[in-house]
Amino acid sequence: SFPAEVVPQAPEDPLFGLMRAYKADESPNKVDLGIGAYRDDNAKPWVLPVVKKADEILRNDPEANHEYLPIAGLASLTSKAAELLLGTSAPALAEKRTASVQTISGTGAVHLGALFLAKFYKIQGANRTVYVSNPTWANHHQIFTNVGLPIATYPYFNKETKGLDFEGMKAALAAAPDGSVILLHACAHNPTGVDPTPEQWRELVSLMRAKKHFPFFDTAYQGFASGDLDRDAGAIRLFVEEGFELVIAQSFAKNFGLYGERAGCFHYVASPSADAAELTTRVASQLAILQRSEISNPPIYGARIASIVLNDSALFAEWQENLRTMSGRIIDMRKQLRGKLEELGTPGTWNHITDQIGMFSFTGLNETQVLKLRTDYHIYMTKNGRVSMAGLNTRNVGYVAAAIDKVVR
Ligand code: PMP
Repeated sequence: SFPAEVVPQAPEDPLFGLMRAYKADESPNKVDLGIGAYRDDNAKPWVLPVVKKADEILRNDPEANHEYLPIAGLASLTSKAAELLLGTSAPALAEKRTASVQTISGTGAVHLGALFLAKFYKIQGANRTVYVSNPTWANHHQIFTNVGLPIATYPYFNKETKGLDFEGMKAALAAAPDGSVILLHACAHNPTGVDPTPEQWRELVSLMRAKKHFPFFDTAYQGFASGDLDRDAGAIRLFVEEGFELVIAQSFAKNFGLYGERAGCFHYVASPSADAAELTTRVASQLAILQRSEISNPPIYGARIASIVLNDSALFAEWQENLRTMSGRIIDMRKQLRGKLEELGTPGTWNHITDQIGMFSFTGLNETQVLKLRTDYHIYMTKNGRVSMAGLNTRNVGYVAAAIDKVVR
């Protein structure tokens, strides 16, 4: 059997541990600002109305069955998923420079990309170290480490301004060995809610081109951040238009509310060149081998739901409306939280609450304050002071603001 020195007890995943503690709390005032899942104004999960409709269509489809999908997944999903990211008229699509594979949501996409790089990013001039922002989604560290790729970090969050440490980020990317893998959050950075401006993205393009860095985009919040699918894909489109070879991990968990259905895609995009289509075919063939050994083929249910919506113009329009409902409510909660803290005269500045975007806000609350909020007020957030804005609603935002006010003083 395995001795404890060989298989030690691992700590519980902090986020899922927090979720458990919240569930066990019997206070009627409890507030869950932990897990990054959308909640409506009644603090309930929201099945998107468009998803309900697609579900109905699927249920009434006499052709629907439970057969396997192909190894690369549902083609009617992956093709639309690529269009969603790159734009319908992207030259990269017309020139067949993209290879797309359906994955186990965004996590599976990051993993497949990591595995692909671990196996093939051995070309001359390449540095196998993956640079992730400090901080980043904690799972990035585990996923790249699990496939044996070294990890390094670049500065990202400025604790004073609670905004982007752009100078620190640039300095680190400039100092990284040429050809490093740079993991970038396409929009609505997790956990900080801080994104580069369009102008800053253009600077990153120049810097990364000069350094021959390899962009690895993680996009888990397209349309969910600003309410505008095109706008939230702006950074990815810029890099693709600028001719980068890159990869993208795409999740449909948040923007379709399909969390547990595990719908997502991994995309490879080649630089424009005479042999780009041939290279892309080779990459696709290797992705298929990796996919086959890992999961054989991806899950069908969520993929069909997303595909039905993406392939029907009326449903697509309704989806955009649903996205605006979710992003709009979150933006409203940001305004209310900031407003109430400022009204109370809570020490510190609170403009970052509305400057930050997407699911999360990095409040600047320290660990002591976070734990006090949990024990004294039954308000649950991660120890780094990250708040899932969707956990706020018109009924609890005043309570949360008052509690923050108390623990900050
Ligand atoms: N990347 C980031 C940055 C995320 O925030 C998330 C969701 N928490 C994911 C990837 C993937 O999540 P999922 O596997 O549920 O799609």
